Amino acid sequence: PGRPGISRGARDPGGFLTEGSNVIIVLKPECTDEQIDHIQEQIVSLGLKPELSRGVKRTLIGVIGEEDLLRSAPLEAFPGVETVMPILKPYKRASREFQAEDSVFDLGHGVRIGGGALGMVAGPCAIEGHAVLLEIGTAVKAAGANILRGGAFKPRTSPYSFQGMGEEGLEILRNVGDELQMPVITEVMDPRQVELVDRYTDVFQVGARNMQNFNLLSEVGKTSKPVMLKRGMSATISDLLMSAEYILASGNKEVILCERGIRSFDNSTRNLLDLAMVPNIQQTCHLPIIVDPSHATGRPELIPAMARAAVASGADGVHIEVHSCPEKAMSDGSQALLPDQYAGVMEELKQLAALFDKVIPVPQEQGE
Ligand code: PEP
Ligand code: MN
Repeated sequence: PGRPGISRGARDPGGFLTEGSNVIIVLKPECTDEQIDHIQEQIVSLGLKPELSRGVKRTLIGVIGEEDLLRSAPLEAFPGVETVMPILKPYKRASREFQAEDSVFDLGHGVRIGGGALGMVAGPCAIEGHAVLLEIGTAVKAAGANILRGGAFKPRTSPYSFQGMGEEGLEILRNVGDELQMPVITEVMDPRQVELVDRYTDVFQVGARNMQNFNLLSEVGKTSKPVMLKRGMSATISDLLMSAEYILASGNKEVILCERGIRSFDNSTRNLLDLAMVPNIQQTCHLPIIVDPSHATGRPELIPAMARAAVASGADGVHIEVHSCPEKAMSDGSQALLPDQYAGVMEELKQLAALFDKVIPVPQEQGE
Protein backbone atom coordinates (compact mmCIF):
# COMPACT_ATOMS: atom_id res chain seq x y z
CA PRO A 1 0.00 0.00 0.00
CA GLY A 2 1.55 3.24 -1.14
CA ARG A 3 0.46 6.78 -0.45
CA PRO A 4 -2.79 7.80 -2.13
CA GLY A 5 -1.16 10.23 -4.53
CA ILE A 6 1.21 7.63 -5.88
CA SER A 7 -1.02 4.64 -6.51
CA ARG A 8 -2.18 5.96 -9.90
CA GLY A 9 1.13 5.97 -11.71
CA ALA A 10 3.77 3.84 -10.08
CA ARG A 11 3.95 1.05 -7.62
CA ASP A 12 6.36 1.44 -4.81
CA PRO A 13 8.54 -1.65 -5.08
CA GLY A 14 11.07 -0.60 -2.52
CA GLY A 15 8.53 0.78 -0.10
CA PHE A 16 10.83 3.71 0.47
CA LEU A 17 8.37 6.49 -0.07
CA THR A 18 8.72 8.39 3.11
CA GLU A 19 6.37 11.20 4.09
CA GLY A 20 8.88 13.71 2.86
CA SER A 21 9.21 12.54 -0.74
CA ASN A 22 8.08 15.27 -3.12
CA VAL A 23 9.05 13.91 -6.50
CA ILE A 24 9.71 10.41 -7.78
CA ILE A 25 12.19 9.76 -10.53
CA VAL A 26 11.52 6.56 -12.42
CA LEU A 27 14.73 5.26 -13.97
CA LYS A 28 15.01 3.46 -17.27
CA PRO A 29 15.48 -0.31 -16.94
CA GLU A 30 18.89 -0.01 -18.59
CA CYS A 31 20.07 2.80 -16.30
CA THR A 32 23.64 2.08 -15.17
CA ASP A 33 25.09 2.35 -11.67
CA GLU A 34 27.28 5.21 -12.88
CA GLN A 35 24.20 7.08 -14.07
CA ILE A 36 22.42 6.44 -10.78
CA ASP A 37 25.41 7.78 -8.85
CA HIS A 38 25.57 10.79 -11.14
CA ILE A 39 21.87 11.58 -10.69
CA GLN A 40 22.14 11.29 -6.93
CA GLU A 41 25.22 13.53 -6.81
CA GLN A 42 23.46 16.14 -8.92
CA ILE A 43 20.36 16.04 -6.73
CA VAL A 44 22.54 16.64 -3.66
CA SER A 45 24.36 19.50 -5.39
CA LEU A 46 20.98 21.12 -6.12
CA GLY A 47 20.33 21.20 -2.38
CA LEU A 48 17.87 18.30 -2.50
CA LYS A 49 17.92 14.88 -0.87
CA PRO A 50 17.76 11.67 -2.94
CA GLU A 51 16.41 8.36 -1.68
CA LEU A 52 17.27 5.36 -3.78
CA SER A 53 14.97 2.36 -4.05
CA ARG A 54 16.03 -0.68 -6.07
CA GLY A 55 12.98 -2.71 -6.99
CA VAL A 56 12.88 -6.06 -8.73
CA LYS A 57 12.00 -4.50 -12.06
CA ARG A 58 12.56 -0.82 -11.61
CA THR A 59 14.76 1.51 -9.67
CA LEU A 60 13.29 4.73 -8.35
CA ILE A 61 14.75 7.79 -6.70
CA GLY A 62 12.58 9.80 -4.35
CA VAL A 63 13.60 13.43 -4.14
CA ILE A 64 12.91 15.42 -1.03
CA GLY A 65 13.31 19.12 -0.74
CA GLU A 66 12.03 22.62 -0.83
CA GLU A 67 9.19 23.09 -3.31
CA ASP A 68 10.65 25.89 -5.38
CA LEU A 69 14.01 24.15 -5.70
CA LEU A 70 12.29 20.96 -6.79
CA ARG A 71 10.16 22.70 -9.34
CA SER A 72 13.11 24.29 -11.07
CA ALA A 73 15.42 21.25 -10.97
CA PRO A 74 15.81 19.76 -14.47
CA LEU A 75 15.35 16.20 -13.24
CA GLU A 76 14.05 14.90 -16.59
CA ALA A 77 17.29 15.88 -18.25
CA PHE A 78 19.59 13.43 -16.47
CA PRO A 79 20.72 10.40 -18.50
CA GLY A 80 18.94 7.26 -17.38
CA VAL A 81 15.74 9.02 -16.27
CA GLU A 82 12.48 7.76 -17.77
CA THR A 83 9.86 9.95 -16.06
CA VAL A 84 9.54 12.33 -13.17
CA MET A 85 6.34 12.24 -11.15
CA PRO A 86 5.51 15.13 -8.87
CA ILE A 87 3.84 14.24 -5.61
CA LEU A 88 3.14 17.77 -4.55
CA LYS A 89 0.54 19.80 -6.38
CA PRO A 90 2.10 22.05 -8.98
CA TYR A 91 -0.09 24.92 -7.87
CA LYS A 92 0.57 26.35 -4.47
CA ARG A 93 -1.22 29.60 -3.73
CA ALA A 94 -4.47 28.32 -5.25
CA SER A 95 -4.46 25.20 -3.09
CA ARG A 96 -6.28 24.53 0.15
CA GLU A 97 -2.97 23.55 1.69
CA PHE A 98 -1.98 27.18 1.26
CA GLN A 99 -5.36 28.49 2.46
CA ALA A 100 -7.91 26.12 3.95
CA GLU A 101 -10.93 28.44 4.03
CA ASP A 102 -12.87 29.67 0.99
CA SER A 103 -11.69 32.96 -0.49
CA VAL A 104 -14.25 35.75 -0.33
CA PHE A 105 -13.80 38.88 -2.47
CA ASP A 106 -15.48 42.25 -2.33
CA LEU A 107 -16.34 43.35 -5.88
CA GLY A 108 -17.68 46.77 -4.96
CA HIS A 109 -21.09 48.07 -3.91
CA GLY A 110 -21.07 45.51 -1.12
CA VAL A 111 -21.22 42.60 -3.54
CA ARG A 112 -19.22 39.67 -2.21
CA ILE A 113 -18.42 36.41 -3.92
CA GLY A 114 -17.31 33.17 -2.28
CA GLY A 115 -17.89 31.63 1.13
CA GLY A 116 -21.64 31.31 0.53
CA ALA A 117 -22.16 34.56 -1.40
CA LEU A 118 -23.18 34.13 -5.05
CA GLY A 119 -21.99 36.44 -7.82
CA MET A 120 -24.72 36.75 -10.46
CA VAL A 121 -23.13 38.18 -13.60
CA ALA A 122 -25.49 39.26 -16.38
CA GLY A 123 -25.53 41.53 -19.39
CA PRO A 124 -24.98 41.51 -23.13
CA CYS A 125 -22.05 39.81 -24.80
CA ALA A 126 -20.88 43.13 -26.23
CA ILE A 127 -21.44 46.74 -25.25
CA GLU A 128 -23.36 48.29 -28.14
CA GLY A 129 -24.45 51.67 -26.83
CA HIS A 130 -25.54 53.51 -23.68
CA ALA A 131 -29.30 53.17 -24.09
CA VAL A 132 -29.34 49.45 -24.79
CA LEU A 133 -26.88 48.66 -21.97
CA LEU A 134 -28.90 50.73 -19.53
CA GLU A 135 -32.08 48.96 -20.59
CA ILE A 136 -30.52 45.51 -20.15
CA GLY A 137 -28.70 46.51 -16.96
CA THR A 138 -31.85 47.90 -15.36
CA ALA A 139 -33.71 44.70 -16.12
CA VAL A 140 -31.05 42.28 -14.88
CA LYS A 141 -30.47 44.28 -11.72
CA ALA A 142 -34.20 44.22 -10.98
CA ALA A 143 -34.11 40.46 -11.49
CA GLY A 144 -31.33 40.06 -8.91
CA ALA A 145 -28.09 40.23 -10.90
CA ASN A 146 -25.33 41.83 -8.87
CA ILE A 147 -22.56 42.26 -11.48
CA LEU A 148 -23.11 43.86 -14.90
CA ARG A 149 -21.15 42.45 -17.82
CA GLY A 150 -20.40 43.66 -21.31
CA GLY A 151 -17.44 43.29 -23.65
CA ALA A 152 -15.68 46.30 -25.15
CA PHE A 153 -12.86 44.21 -26.62
CA LYS A 154 -14.30 41.07 -28.18
CA PRO A 155 -12.18 38.03 -29.01
CA ARG A 156 -13.95 37.02 -32.21
CA THR A 157 -13.16 33.88 -34.15
CA SER A 158 -13.28 35.87 -37.37
CA PRO A 159 -11.30 39.07 -37.89
CA TYR A 160 -14.26 40.35 -39.95
CA SER A 161 -16.76 40.12 -37.06
CA PHE A 162 -17.57 43.06 -34.77
CA GLN A 163 -14.55 43.53 -32.51
CA GLY A 164 -16.15 45.68 -29.82
CA MET A 165 -16.47 49.40 -29.13
CA GLY A 166 -13.11 49.73 -27.39
CA GLU A 167 -12.61 52.60 -24.97
CA GLU A 168 -15.93 54.18 -25.88
CA GLY A 169 -17.57 50.94 -24.76
CA LEU A 170 -15.63 50.94 -21.49
CA GLU A 171 -16.87 54.43 -20.80
CA ILE A 172 -20.47 53.38 -21.42
CA LEU A 173 -20.08 50.37 -19.13
CA ARG A 174 -18.62 52.51 -16.33
CA ASN A 175 -21.39 55.07 -16.66
CA VAL A 176 -24.17 52.50 -16.66
CA GLY A 177 -22.57 50.71 -13.70
CA ASP A 178 -22.49 54.00 -11.80
CA GLU A 179 -26.06 54.87 -12.76
CA LEU A 180 -27.28 51.47 -11.62
CA GLN A 181 -24.90 51.36 -8.65
CA MET A 182 -23.57 47.94 -9.45
CA PRO A 183 -20.08 46.53 -10.07
CA VAL A 184 -19.08 45.87 -13.67
CA ILE A 185 -16.92 43.26 -15.38
CA THR A 186 -15.34 43.40 -18.81
CA GLU A 187 -12.81 41.44 -20.81
CA VAL A 188 -9.18 42.43 -21.22
CA MET A 189 -7.41 40.69 -24.09
CA ASP A 190 -3.92 42.12 -24.19
CA PRO A 191 -1.31 43.06 -21.56
CA ARG A 192 -1.14 46.51 -23.20
CA GLN A 193 -4.85 47.07 -22.46
CA VAL A 194 -4.67 46.34 -18.75
CA GLU A 195 -4.02 49.91 -17.67
CA LEU A 196 -6.84 51.26 -19.85
CA VAL A 197 -9.40 48.66 -18.76
CA ASP A 198 -8.33 49.13 -15.12
CA ARG A 199 -9.51 52.75 -15.32
CA TYR A 200 -13.09 51.67 -16.06
CA THR A 201 -13.81 48.24 -14.64
CA ASP A 202 -14.37 46.76 -11.18
CA VAL A 203 -13.51 43.21 -12.22
CA PHE A 204 -11.29 42.02 -15.08
CA GLN A 205 -12.40 39.16 -17.28
CA VAL A 206 -9.78 36.99 -18.92
CA GLY A 207 -11.51 35.01 -21.65
CA ALA A 208 -11.21 31.35 -22.57
CA ARG A 209 -9.00 32.16 -25.55
CA ASN A 210 -6.54 33.97 -23.31
CA MET A 211 -6.45 31.58 -20.38
CA GLN A 212 -2.84 30.77 -21.15
CA ASN A 213 -1.76 34.24 -22.23
CA PHE A 214 0.80 34.23 -19.45
CA ASN A 215 1.93 37.82 -20.00
CA LEU A 216 -1.67 38.96 -19.65
CA LEU A 217 -2.09 36.88 -16.49
CA SER A 218 1.01 38.40 -14.93
CA GLU A 219 -0.14 41.88 -15.89
CA VAL A 220 -3.62 41.59 -14.34
CA GLY A 221 -1.83 39.94 -11.44
CA LYS A 222 -0.13 43.26 -10.74
CA THR A 223 -3.43 45.12 -10.38
CA SER A 224 -5.53 45.29 -7.25
CA LYS A 225 -8.83 44.27 -8.84
CA PRO A 226 -10.46 40.85 -8.91
CA VAL A 227 -9.95 38.80 -12.07
CA MET A 228 -12.47 36.31 -13.45
CA LEU A 229 -10.45 33.69 -15.31
CA LYS A 230 -12.41 31.62 -17.82
CA ARG A 231 -11.40 28.07 -18.54
CA GLY A 232 -9.81 27.58 -21.94
CA MET A 233 -11.80 25.42 -24.31
CA SER A 234 -9.22 22.64 -24.21
CA ALA A 235 -7.80 23.34 -20.77
CA THR A 236 -7.55 20.69 -18.10
CA ILE A 237 -8.40 21.58 -14.54
CA SER A 238 -4.74 21.61 -13.72
CA ASP A 239 -4.10 24.02 -16.64
CA LEU A 240 -6.78 26.34 -15.28
CA LEU A 241 -5.36 26.27 -11.77
CA MET A 242 -1.83 26.86 -13.05
CA SER A 243 -3.10 29.92 -14.93
CA ALA A 244 -4.77 31.15 -11.74
CA GLU A 245 -1.41 30.57 -10.05
CA TYR A 246 0.23 33.04 -12.48
CA ILE A 247 -2.14 35.78 -11.31
CA LEU A 248 -1.73 34.85 -7.65
CA ALA A 249 2.05 34.65 -7.96
CA SER A 250 2.11 38.21 -9.34
CA GLY A 251 0.55 39.43 -6.12
CA ASN A 252 -3.17 39.56 -6.87
CA LYS A 253 -5.05 37.28 -4.49
CA GLU A 254 -8.46 37.83 -6.05
CA VAL A 255 -9.01 35.24 -8.75
CA ILE A 256 -12.47 33.94 -9.62
CA LEU A 257 -12.55 30.83 -11.79
CA CYS A 258 -15.18 30.36 -14.48
CA GLU A 259 -16.33 27.15 -16.14
CA ARG A 260 -17.70 28.00 -19.61
CA GLY A 261 -17.69 24.61 -21.27
CA ILE A 262 -14.99 22.71 -23.09
CA ARG A 263 -14.71 21.36 -26.63
CA SER A 264 -16.19 17.92 -27.15
CA PHE A 265 -17.01 15.58 -30.02
CA ASP A 266 -20.70 16.39 -29.78
CA ASN A 267 -21.87 19.45 -31.65
CA SER A 268 -25.46 19.75 -30.49
CA THR A 269 -24.32 22.26 -27.90
CA ARG A 270 -21.68 24.95 -28.38
CA ASN A 271 -19.42 23.37 -25.76
CA LEU A 272 -19.68 20.69 -23.10
CA LEU A 273 -20.45 22.05 -19.64
CA ASP A 274 -18.17 20.34 -17.14
CA LEU A 275 -20.11 20.77 -13.92
CA ALA A 276 -18.17 18.12 -12.01
CA MET A 277 -15.26 20.52 -12.11
CA VAL A 278 -17.02 22.66 -9.50
CA PRO A 279 -16.92 20.21 -6.57
CA ASN A 280 -13.73 18.74 -8.01
CA ILE A 281 -11.85 22.04 -7.85
CA GLN A 282 -13.44 23.01 -4.54
CA GLN A 283 -11.79 20.01 -2.90
CA THR A 284 -8.31 21.28 -3.61
CA CYS A 285 -8.70 25.00 -4.28
CA HIS A 286 -10.10 27.86 -2.21
CA LEU A 287 -10.99 30.24 -5.07
CA PRO A 288 -14.63 30.99 -6.00
CA ILE A 289 -16.00 29.38 -9.17
CA ILE A 290 -18.66 30.83 -11.46
CA VAL A 291 -20.49 28.77 -14.09
CA ASP A 292 -21.35 30.25 -17.50
CA PRO A 293 -24.13 28.19 -19.08
CA SER A 294 -24.47 30.72 -21.93
CA HIS A 295 -21.15 30.00 -23.62
CA ALA A 296 -21.22 26.38 -22.41
CA THR A 297 -24.46 25.49 -24.20
CA GLY A 298 -24.95 28.30 -26.72
CA ARG A 299 -28.67 27.51 -26.52
CA PRO A 300 -31.09 29.73 -24.58
CA GLU A 301 -33.55 26.88 -23.91
CA LEU A 302 -30.85 24.90 -22.06
CA ILE A 303 -29.54 27.76 -19.96
CA PRO A 304 -32.17 27.73 -17.15
CA ALA A 305 -31.63 24.04 -16.34
CA MET A 306 -27.86 24.41 -16.41
CA ALA A 307 -28.03 27.54 -14.27
CA ARG A 308 -30.04 25.64 -11.64
CA ALA A 309 -27.60 22.76 -11.84
CA ALA A 310 -24.72 25.20 -11.37
CA VAL A 311 -26.11 26.51 -8.09
CA ALA A 312 -26.94 22.97 -6.96
CA SER A 313 -23.39 21.87 -7.77
CA GLY A 314 -22.05 24.40 -5.28
CA ALA A 315 -20.89 27.08 -7.72
CA ASP A 316 -20.27 30.55 -6.31
CA GLY A 317 -22.13 32.28 -9.08
CA VAL A 318 -23.76 32.10 -12.49
CA HIS A 319 -22.84 34.08 -15.59
CA ILE A 320 -25.59 34.59 -18.17
CA GLU A 321 -25.76 36.69 -21.34
CA VAL A 322 -28.93 38.75 -21.62
CA HIS A 323 -30.08 40.99 -24.44
CA SER A 324 -33.27 43.03 -24.83
CA CYS A 325 -33.33 42.30 -28.55
CA PRO A 326 -31.21 39.21 -29.31
CA GLU A 327 -31.90 39.41 -33.04
CA LYS A 328 -30.16 42.78 -33.15
CA ALA A 329 -27.27 41.80 -30.86
CA MET A 330 -23.84 42.39 -32.38
CA SER A 331 -22.34 39.31 -30.74
CA ASP A 332 -23.70 36.01 -29.37
CA GLY A 333 -27.34 37.05 -29.92
CA SER A 334 -28.40 33.47 -30.55
CA GLN A 335 -27.54 32.42 -26.99
CA ALA A 336 -28.89 35.48 -25.18
CA LEU A 337 -31.82 35.25 -22.78
CA LEU A 338 -34.48 37.94 -22.90
CA PRO A 339 -34.73 40.02 -19.71
CA ASP A 340 -38.01 38.27 -18.79
CA GLN A 341 -36.45 34.86 -19.24
CA TYR A 342 -33.54 35.93 -17.08
CA ALA A 343 -35.94 37.10 -14.37
CA GLY A 344 -37.59 33.68 -14.47
CA VAL A 345 -34.25 31.92 -14.03
CA MET A 346 -33.30 34.21 -11.18
CA GLU A 347 -36.54 33.45 -9.31
CA GLU A 348 -35.55 29.79 -9.35
CA LEU A 349 -31.94 30.50 -8.46
CA LYS A 350 -33.02 32.56 -5.45
CA GLN A 351 -35.03 29.61 -4.14
CA LEU A 352 -32.14 27.26 -4.71
CA ALA A 353 -29.74 29.67 -3.04
CA ALA A 354 -31.94 29.74 0.05
CA LEU A 355 -32.21 25.96 0.02
CA PHE A 356 -28.43 25.63 -0.03
CA ASP A 357 -27.88 28.37 2.56
CA LYS A 358 -26.34 30.79 0.09
CA VAL A 359 -26.95 34.50 -0.27
CA ILE A 360 -27.18 36.64 -3.40
CA PRO A 361 -25.85 40.02 -2.27
CA VAL A 362 -27.85 43.02 -3.46
CA PRO A 363 -25.65 45.90 -4.70
CA GLN A 364 -25.65 48.79 -2.24
CA GLU A 365 -25.55 52.46 -3.11
CA GLN A 366 -22.09 53.84 -2.74
CA GLY A 367 -21.25 57.47 -2.20
CA GLU A 368 -18.08 59.06 -3.51
C1 PEP B 1 -17.67 36.21 -23.38
O1 PEP B 1 -17.79 36.15 -22.14
O2 PEP B 1 -18.38 36.95 -24.09
C2 PEP B 1 -16.69 35.32 -24.02
C3 PEP B 1 -16.10 35.66 -25.16
O3 PEP B 1 -16.53 34.17 -23.35
P1 PEP B 1 -15.43 33.00 -23.54
O4 PEP B 1 -14.09 33.65 -23.35
O5 PEP B 1 -15.80 32.04 -22.45
O6 PEP B 1 -15.63 32.43 -24.91
MN1 MN C 1 -20.31 36.13 -25.47
